[in-house]
Amino acid sequence: MKYSYQPVIGLEIHVQLATATKIFCSCSTDYIGAEPNTNVCPVCLGLPGALPVLNGKAVELGIKAAMALSCTIRDKTVFHRKNYFYPDLPKAYQISQYDLPLAEGGELFIAGEGGALKRIRITRLHLEEDAGKLVHSAADGRLEGSECSYVDYNRGGVPLAEIVSEPDLRSPREAREYVTSLRRLVRYLDVSDGDMERGSMRVDANISLQKKDAATGEILYWGERSEIKNMNSLRAIERALEYEIRRQTVVLENGGVLELETRHWNDGDGVTTSMRSKEAAHDYRYFPDPDLPPIEASPALLEKVRTSLPEMPWAREARFRNEFALPEADAALLSETMPLADYYEICVRSGASAARASNWVRTEVLRVLNEQNIAIEQFSLSPKDLGALVRLVDDEKLSTTAARETFNAMIRDGVSLEKALEASGGARGKLSGNALADTVRGVLASNPDVVAEIFDGKDDKGKKKKFIVGLVMKEARGQADAASVGELLDTLLQEKP
Ligand SMILES: [Zn+2]
Repeated sequence: MKYSYQPVIGLEIHVQLATATKIFCSCSTDYIGAEPNTNVCPVCLGLPGALPVLNGKAVELGIKAAMALSCTIRDKTVFHRKNYFYPDLPKAYQISQYDLPLAEGGELFIAGEGGALKRIRITRLHLEEDAGKLVHSAADGRLEGSECSYVDYNRGGVPLAEIVSEPDLRSPREAREYVTSLRRLVRYLDVSDGDMERGSMRVDANISLQKKDAATGEILYWGERSEIKNMNSLRAIERALEYEIRRQTVVLENGGVLELETRHWNDGDGVTTSMRSKEAAHDYRYFPDPDLPPIEASPALLEKVRTSLPEMPWAREARFRNEFALPEADAALLSETMPLADYYEICVRSGASAARASNWVRTEVLRVLNEQNIAIEQFSLSPKDLGALVRLVDDEKLSTTAARETFNAMIRDGVSLEKALEASGGARGKLSGNALADTVRGVLASNPDVVAEIFDGKDDKGKKKKFIVGLVMKEARGQADAASVGELLDTLLQEKP
């Protein structure tokens, strides 16, 4: 009998909520680059007698994400203590949610295998506090001493939303699509910056294999799942899952047994290694936190959040495809973040044609952002100015070459469109009609030998004609486009006696 192996994947994603202060105290959440243990207080250090006070903004952001995922928001939700001992957790318990999470039963659509939309069910979304961070001396040059670890509680108490999917994903590529889609969503909603490298979005993957009869598709055996941790990029998620599929397949093919275990992804070596097995599984002894009253999501709050929801990224992408007739890939790229989508749309609303504006934003604008290593929000050229510039090209008042020069001048000198055009002699209008014809005639007249050769059929592969076009372009100083010069040249060459 021949076998096939079907991966079954579910993801648990921790999203750091974009609040200014922590979830149960007023310490700052801005811990990146902060001096260790400076954003701390008795509450987030878990000192005796300190009482947590829930940050309403964290609840609001959690509800916002849950609504966008079409989850059902629970009227009354409760915080539990999840007990475990680890140095990064000063209270020896984490305040999290257990059987009464903030929201349940949602969905997110991704591009599945074969391109069709695929629905991924969301099991739940709950709120919890983040733990601190261990800093190992071996990995941090600033620290003295050998082989010791320090703990920095700046991150402890930062609000997280944990979003758990059903095991609906069937390949590493789908897992990547799902994470990409979720990241775009939280960014659109301003719920999180979704930065995986900086840890604002952390993905754990559960993966198991179904061993099937290759002929009938019947499931013969379903291996235990392993949970993979420490994947901090989209590429890492895909690679770790691909590795895990290979590893589990080998075990099953050799008649081995897979055990429930947690595995650590090592990005440098490209392997997962076992961290702990089922025997070491924690008993968290969850119980309701007596210091925190249940959260009640009032209809007024729900209404407030509902009205604050922007157009969803997938809706905007679809609108870009339909309203602006953009190809699928371009619509996806331009709707990746709300600021980029806004930038593009303002360009178009400022009079630029949708297709040309798309081209300019995707190539010229993204190139500059990349070169300057900045976000679109920091880009000096306003979308209105770019829209107006592109419109000049649409209306053939400026050649693409001249427009590109103007674009570069606006960025280089930080000037408005008017100023840049003034400096370059203004939108002189692209040469066309008689003016262009005169230029072409002038060039033909000063190159009689070449023209004669073309007439004698000695124009090898059109090289001579190209040579003439080049001369015209030079003469027109960027104020002509090669295609119309070529056409005009054909017409004029026929006129020749
Ligand atoms: Zn604090």
